[in-house]
Amino acid sequence: MISNNRKKDFPIPERLQKASAELENIARNVDKKQIKDVIYKGIKTENGEKIYTVRDTLKEIYYNKCAYCEIMEHKPEIEHYRPKKEVKEDKTHQGYYWLCYEWTNLIPSCHNCNTENGKRTQFPIMGDRVNSPSFLISNQKLDKEQCKAENSPLINERPYLFHPEIDTPETAFEFKINGAIRGIDHLGRGRQTARICDLNRENLKYRRQIIIDDYKKCISESLDDYFDGTINERSFRKKLLFVFLKIRINSQPNKEFSLVSKYIESDFDQIIPPLLPTPKQRLIIINAYRRFKNNTLYELNS
Ligand SMILES: [Zn+2]
Repeated sequence: MISNNRKKDFPIPERLQKASAELENIARNVDKKQIKDVIYKGIKTENGEKIYTVRDTLKEIYYNKCAYCEIMEHKPEIEHYRPKKEVKEDKTHQGYYWLCYEWTNLIPSCHNCNTENGKRTQFPIMGDRVNSPSFLISNQKLDKEQCKAENSPLINERPYLFHPEIDTPETAFEFKINGAIRGIDHLGRGRQTARICDLNRENLKYRRQIIIDDYKKCISESLDDYFDGTINERSFRKKLLFVFLKIRINSQPNKEFSLVSKYIESDFDQIIPPLLPTPKQRLIIINAYRRFKNNTLYELNS
């Protein structure tokens, strides 16, 4: 998972904006049967076609990726960050029904992160749980500001699950050479997020390992070619430059599994050099990457 602050650049889909009266009813009567998937999924047009404005807007904001595992997803599911009908950790809770059409509560997710062994109705928190919208007490209209994930009272729940639009999960994870992801922040949010969304399922680990292996393979081949005299130092540096730039490009938010490359980019010495067979090779690559970060690998090459 990576942070994403692009939602503010996109208008809230019209269908969600128009649902405010329906939402008032759902919230006032705790009538979860009125929650209709069509509003945030597909809407049938007059000619029978289905359009998916909510899904497609989320898809664009999140670069066609699942917000949790970063896999490319052509038809993401509309995930409710706070579950709308029930909460696994609190059987007496009615679910966050008043957030069913709340834009900050909707996140694009692949099927595996959302259901299967993934999130479902999980929503563990560190603080006090919000059980109902405050307007039920004051008898006022639903306060839209209080429904936003980044505002009080919801933010005071202190969720374990990272919210990509509020949190910066980038520093809370590390990756192993087998593609495993591990939470490392002191609050345990990274660990819990990985557990909740099943981010260490075999397919994801395998896909992330391929990325790590590919960088290692390119670097090893460059070293072999250099040591056996196939290429000179100038070409060797050029080849390394190409690999390092590839890591940088793949760490951009529109790339699948960008967090793996972002992690390698910032913690290169921890993950790539240990994969090389000799201390001499490791030292050469550590120094080359240091020069790359200082923009001097290219200078030496010229
Ligand atoms: Zn996913």
